[in-house]
Amino acid sequence: MDSRSSQEQRKGAGAGRVTQELHTVLRRTEEDATGSDGGEEDEKEEERSSDEGFMGMTPLLQAHHAMEKMEEFVHKVWEGRWRVIPHDVLPDWLKDNDFLLHGHRPPMPSFRACFKSIFRIHTETGNIWTHLLGCLFFLCLGLMYMFRPNMSFVAPVQEKVVIGMFFLGAILCLSFSWLFHTVYCHSEGVSRVFSKLDYSGIAFLIMGSFVPWLYYSFYCSPQPCFIYLIVVCILGLAAITVSQCDFFATPQYRGVRAGVFVGLGLSGVVPTLHFVISEGLIRATTIGQMGWLLLMAMLYITGACLYAARIPERFFPGKCDIWFHSHQLFHILVVAGAFVHFHGVSNLQEFRYTAGAGCAEDGTL
Ligand SMILES: [Zn+2]
Repeated sequence: MDSRSSQEQRKGAGAGRVTQELHTVLRRTEEDATGSDGGEEDEKEEERSSDEGFMGMTPLLQAHHAMEKMEEFVHKVWEGRWRVIPHDVLPDWLKDNDFLLHGHRPPMPSFRACFKSIFRIHTETGNIWTHLLGCLFFLCLGLMYMFRPNMSFVAPVQEKVVIGMFFLGAILCLSFSWLFHTVYCHSEGVSRVFSKLDYSGIAFLIMGSFVPWLYYSFYCSPQPCFIYLIVVCILGLAAITVSQCDFFATPQYRGVRAGVFVGLGLSGVVPTLHFVISEGLIRATTIGQMGWLLLMAMLYITGACLYAARIPERFFPGKCDIWFHSHQLFHILVVAGAFVHFHGVSNLQEFRYTAGAGCAEDGTL
C-alpha cells in the first residue's frame, strides 16, 4: 500500500467519526423539531442504509461527505434551527453533569449562534442570566459609588481605588462567568479557554473582596494590613495558576475546585481572628461588621457545597434540567454573597467617615 492511499484512509476514518457524531446530533435535533417518534423503524432503516452507503465510499468521498454534513450542520446552527438534545448524545467534552438529563444545547461552532442562545431555554439559560444580570447590577452600583461626591470620604481617591478593586473583582468574575456559560457549547477548545477565565474570575472576586475589608478593618495598623494583602494575592495567584491546568475543569475535580476557592476565601479567618483579638468581640460584631462577613461566608460556602454535591438534581434527576439545578443556585448565592460583602464594606466606610482620619493609640480600626 503506498503512503498516499494510507493517508487517504486515515483521513476517511477521522471524517467518518465526525460524520457519525454529526449524524447523531442532527438526527436527535430533527426528531425533537418534528416531535415525532413515529416512523422510527423507517429512520433506522434509512440510517442503516446511509451508514452502509457511507462505509462503501472511498476515503476521499467519505471526507467529502463529512464536509458536506458539517456545512449542513453549521448552516442549521447559523440559522438558529437547532433543538435541545439529551445528555446521553452529548459529545464527551460537553458532558458535565449527568443528573441533567435533557435540555442541553448541541455543539454549536458559531459564536453568533451561542450568543443568540442566551434568549432560548436550555440547561445554561439560568446560569447565563443570573451572572449577566448580576454583572450589570454591580456595574451600576460601582459607577454610582465612583461618582459619589468626594466629601463623603476621608481620603476620596484612595478609598475609591480600594473599593474599586472590589467592584473590578466582582465585575470580572460575573462577566467571565456569563461569557463562559454562553460559549461553553461552541467547541472543545473555546470551552477550555473560557472555563479557565471563569475559574480565574472567582479568584479575582475573592482577592478584590479582601482589599477594602482589610483596608478599613486595619486602617490604623498598615503593617498587618499590607502583609495580609500580600498573602491573599499570593494565594489568589496560586489558585489562578492551578485553574490553568486542563484536569482542573474535568467533572472528577468538581470537589477539588470547590475546595480551592473555599480555602482561598477561608484564608480570611486569620485576619478575622487578629481583628477580634485586638478589638474585642463587641466592637468586632458592631463596627467591625463581623455579622455581615459571617453571613457572606455562609452564602459562599453553601453555594460551594451545593455545587460540589450537585444538590438538588442528584435527588431529582431530570427534574431540575432547566431551573433550580445546583449551578444556578450557586450562581445566585455568589451574587448574594458579593452584595452582602459590599454592604459590610460600605458600613465600614461610613464608620471611617464619621470617625475621621485619626487613629487611637492601639486600635487597628
Ligand atoms: Zn458558572
